[in-house]
Amino acid sequence: MPATRQLPALKVGLTGGIASGKTTVANLFAQLGVPLIDTDVIARQVVLPGEPGLARIIETFGSDVLNADGTLNRSALRTRVFNDQKQREKLEAILHPLIRQNTLQASETVIEPYCLIVVPLMFESGFNERVDRVLAVVTPPDEQLRRLMLRDKSDEAEAVRIINSQLNHDARMSAADDLIHNSGEPDELVQQVEVLHENYLKLSMQREPSQP
Ligand code: ATP
Repeated sequence: MPATRQLPALKVGLTGGIASGKTTVANLFAQLGVPLIDTDVIARQVVLPGEPGLARIIETFGSDVLNADGTLNRSALRTRVFNDQKQREKLEAILHPLIRQNTLQASETVIEPYCLIVVPLMFESGFNERVDRVLAVVTPPDEQLRRLMLRDKSDEAEAVRIINSQLNHDARMSAADDLIHNSGEPDELVQQVEVLHENYLKLSMQREPSQP
């Protein structure tokens, strides 16, 4: 991808329900040379030993959410916030601003015309306000359920519970700027990605430099 502009990279946020095909789609963009920023990766980085995120978690939840080696014990933390909205909100109040800040910082170092920021809970977390466009991968709910159960070997009740805890399919479809339909074969994604890629390159060139 040419790297000739002076403007900050256009930020395209990629979202979709669990097992809708975000990773599959992101990999196709990466094959075209588009830089990917994955908020799941950043979410793990902000709680590494020595990071302020981990220090704040210890302050809030105590050191029994740590492993013996000082790393975060994710399952202990998950147990603490599971089914407890207040505790979950406390955790999100620590993590979300750090993830947002680190993600935006990473996007500022991009020299290509645009980057793809993968944010599974885009609308739920309000991250849609921080990107220039939102691209949603959409899969019909019955097919999403089938793929999720197949991939995670989860039972139907558990898979349905996770899907229902996220924004519903229709709301995500109407809130996104662009859609990729992932109801058929993976090959059918390639052309959709190519069309969007051309469009994002054009959009990135059409922007005006921001006023000082
Ligand atoms: P998560 O939300 O868990 O991060 P995701 O949205 O990134 O998932 P993928 O991992 O890309 O989704 O896809 C979920 C599963 O569905 C994977 O096993 C993947 O191989 C499969 N899959 C994706 N697209 C298709 C398709 N078009 N046909 C069949 N299987 C698919």
